[in-house]
Amino acid sequence: MATANIPKIFGSLVFNDDVMHERLPKQTYAELKDCIKENKPLTTEIAQQVASAMKTWAVEHGATHFTHWFQPMTGFTAEKHDSFITPVGDGQIIMDFSGKELIHSEPDASSFPSGGIRSTFEARGYTAWDPTSYAFIKDDTLCIPSVFYSYTGQVLDKKTPLLRSIQAMDKEAMRIVNLFGNPTGAAHVHSSVGGEQEYFLIDRDLYNEREDLKLTGRTLFGAKPPKGQEKEDHYFGVIKPTVKAFMADLDEELWKLGVYSKTEHNEVAPSQHELAPIYCDTNLGTDQNQLMMETMKTVAARHNLACLLHEKPFAGVNGSGKHNNWSITTDTGENLLKPGKDPSNNTRFLVFLAAVVKGVDEYQDLLRVSAASPGNDHRLGGSEAPPAIVSMYLGDELGAVVDALAKHKTVSKKPSEVADTGIEVIPNFKKDTTDRNRTSPFAFTGNKFEFRMLGSAMSLADPNTVLNTILAEELGEFSDELEKADDLDKAARELASRVFAEHARIIFNGDGYTDEWVVEAEKRGLSNLRTCADAYPAYIADKNVKLFEKHKIFSKEELESRYEIGLENYCKTLHIEALTMTEMVKKDIYPAVLAYMDEVAETINRKEKISAAISHESESELLTSLSTLADSLMKKCAELESTLVTADDISQIQEQANYYRDNVFVAMQEMRAVADELETKTAKDYWPIPSYSDLLYSVV
Ligand code: ADP
Ligand code: MG
Repeated sequence: MATANIPKIFGSLVFNDDVMHERLPKQTYAELKDCIKENKPLTTEIAQQVASAMKTWAVEHGATHFTHWFQPMTGFTAEKHDSFITPVGDGQIIMDFSGKELIHSEPDASSFPSGGIRSTFEARGYTAWDPTSYAFIKDDTLCIPSVFYSYTGQVLDKKTPLLRSIQAMDKEAMRIVNLFGNPTGAAHVHSSVGGEQEYFLIDRDLYNEREDLKLTGRTLFGAKPPKGQEKEDHYFGVIKPTVKAFMADLDEELWKLGVYSKTEHNEVAPSQHELAPIYCDTNLGTDQNQLMMETMKTVAARHNLACLLHEKPFAGVNGSGKHNNWSITTDTGENLLKPGKDPSNNTRFLVFLAAVVKGVDEYQDLLRVSAASPGNDHRLGGSEAPPAIVSMYLGDELGAVVDALAKHKTVSKKPSEVADTGIEVIPNFKKDTTDRNRTSPFAFTGNKFEFRMLGSAMSLADPNTVLNTILAEELGEFSDELEKADDLDKAARELASRVFAEHARIIFNGDGYTDEWVVEAEKRGLSNLRTCADAYPAYIADKNVKLFEKHKIFSKEELESRYEIGLENYCKTLHIEALTMTEMVKKDIYPAVLAYMDEVAETINRKEKISAAISHESESELLTSLSTLADSLMKKCAELESTLVTADDISQIQEQANYYRDNVFVAMQEMRAVADELETKTAKDYWPIPSYSDLLYSVV
């Protein structure tokens, strides 16, 4: 990570290359870098010197504590702080930090999800320093990026598989690079990620009035506001002063942490925004995205705002995603997914492209499960995010190349077109060779792929683990074939032609939001895994277990644990949401409606008392309607509660998840529909929670 001038302006809180270069003995720095580059274990002496330099630097920057910072299966980060204070006898203390403490730590693992890998009485879990990411200071604490595993050596986190996938992809990609003569003398290939992060910002006081937002991250009730996003006036609109102040503050905090946020703009929905960082290695990028999400929340609180990272905080307006921009590059700086001026004759590029096409087609289910979360279920398949069906968009130019190769035809190169505004003073410019397709879940965008399925609250680790692994698999298979060829160029082109023909079904350039596509995709045999309950079994499908075992990413047992954790989390999330809903109905919504009905009834009474000649037709109609709806609400509430009782009795996790999907979730939707209708009929003064209009248009 080069640090340019930004940290010099704002002060860096990252123990990055520049700091290490400055503070470590020359020899130690060189050895450390070599270990990282060549995947060699660090010696105790190096660890000791790094620890000592890290501590001195951290204390100088106000840190008093340190923590191994890791990413358990909750999808969030975890930390356990220890102070640098060490007793040295005579009641004296010093600030100390040893190489051993840097390398290793033992947090209690019993309370993190393990999916049955480890019973709570076998609580030992270890964290180990990941030197390929950077330590940083947060809240006066030195945070050391770490992996997390059990006493038995099984993986308990999201970072270990990612690191393994990076190694596997490097090994197999280098075989292809070497086959093609390795013109730049590369030693390694790494993958990069730039995660565009969408989020909502709302007024914090209003947020605090909504139990559902506080407990579940999303609104479980809320009638459609008169104005949603139909006018499309929020997208790229003028940024409001409160939001601007938040963004400026956020940038500064992130830059200090080495997260270089670059673009910020308003998104489609009211109160929705996006932040895109400068891309970096998938491991570092994954850490940085976690930091970004955390920082967004704390900075929002400082501005009396609440940052909502949930995938679907509001029904009826767009949800939030996280676009996983992904590419692969040699350590000599060549982007292996860059088509160049003449992609049809860039054989090495065609081989890498073929590997991505084949991998995405064969492992659609894995990509889907890497984007599975209860929150994201609301988004995928709604007419906004990509559907739950995985397909690829290559654009006109590349699409034509692939199509021609698949059909063994020659490709005619399209001359680049010029955009002419018709205004003389504005110079014409060359257009991009491809337009965008915002509906595609996996779109080629010039020299990278943008995987758009991921939900806004999710870790970047899972999709990148899958992407790196499937690429390793396909490239390995291709190398086995091509290493035997006499005429490499001919064999590689034949291979690409064959792959493009066999996997043509995964390429789709049309509108992915339409119902026609769902029908068409089914005809093509593409998978359509709509919910978590449908998606998680992908982790234990034979072909996927084989893939992960072959590349030493996961053992079968570790995959089974991930499957279980996923389904368990799905059931627990729906359980909490359902309980929150019944509580809100019984304690807030129903009593409010009762009070309002009482007032309406009183009005009718009073009118009748004055004179039978005074009409109370509208009040009576309203009261009848409110009463009917209130009865229905309580009936639906009882039904929902009874589904929860049934769900509790199901012990098999897949069956339980299916029951939540088919019964609990349906009962939640039905109860919500009644409550939302009641909201439209109840006077605002009586309605106990802020409305969608309040929430979406409160920030100025
Ligand atoms: P686009 O115009 O295609 O959306 P941008 O340049 O705006 O591309 O970048 C969008 C995101 O993609 C940013 O976070 C950026 O850092 C990231 N990105 C750009 N190039 C790459 C790359 N080669 N690999 C991974 N991410 C990238
Ligand atoms: Mg984008």
